[in-house]
Amino acid sequence: MAKKKYSVSRLNTFENCTLKYKLLYLDYLTAEEVSGNINTRKGNVFHEFSEKYNPDSSIENQQLLLKSIKIKHDIDESYDFTKPIDLFKIFYEKEFLDKKDLITSIEREVSLDFETTGLDGKLKNFTAKIDVLVSMVDGSYIIYDYKTSKTAETRYHVDQMSLYMKAIQIIKKIPTEDVCSRVQVKLFFPFAAMESDTYLDVLKNIVITPEILEFHFSKYLEHIDTIEDLSKWTPEAKINPLCDYCMFSGTLYCKKSQERGFSAIRGIKIKKKTWS
Ligand code: SF4
Repeated sequence: MAKKKYSVSRLNTFENCTLKYKLLYLDYLTAEEVSGNINTRKGNVFHEFSEKYNPDSSIENQQLLLKSIKIKHDIDESYDFTKPIDLFKIFYEKEFLDKKDLITSIEREVSLDFETTGLDGKLKNFTAKIDVLVSMVDGSYIIYDYKTSKTAETRYHVDQMSLYMKAIQIIKKIPTEDVCSRVQVKLFFPFAAMESDTYLDVLKNIVITPEILEFHFSKYLEHIDTIEDLSKWTPEAKINPLCDYCMFSGTLYCKKSQERGFSAIRGIKIKKKTWS
């Protein structure tokens, strides 16, 4: 049997609501048809555009690219991406093109799989995906992650970025004492409503100290230890701010959300996951 791979999303699901964790990861339920949350789809459009963006292609071709991605993600043609895309182009120019002499490589949509020893002494597998990983000539790295929230609030992302930093530390074999000086984390919030809307207003550094890094990584190892010992927890619905986006909200699977009067996502159809 394949070994479990732990991602931030999986571990945070466990932290936020153990019922949702059970339904997703032990019962293997999934959504068959979802008309989709508009903000999620807008975020998907932005991520795909940023992944495929070529600064050398003509404005017309860039617009055609955006149009095709909007159609793919079922976003109305009239929805205006001008501001986030303009901010992104400036960001790309300033952070990547203008600094090209300092940069060795720019990798987009980087999958990082690594293993480390868990609290029970056995190896645990982690998986992470970074929007952009930049390797610098001086041997340092910059992790860029694109966030499509309406506020440029970094504190909600510290645990996720700590895991990404740990992934780079392990994969690039960076000594523990050097990781916080050799790996920087920057979050880009192109949809954030700011007063001036300059690219620097929506590009935020996250400062992760060795203590913060170890705190969050230890927390994740403790979650894994609990997850893998079924005698240590029982699935329990925990109402939280993410219930609004949960596919079980307002369905029979989560009676607590029904009692609270939550309605199910339009068009949702839940089924058992199948593997082909
Ligand atoms: S709706 Fe909320 S409480 Fe219910 S399963 Fe989803 S996250 Fe948990």
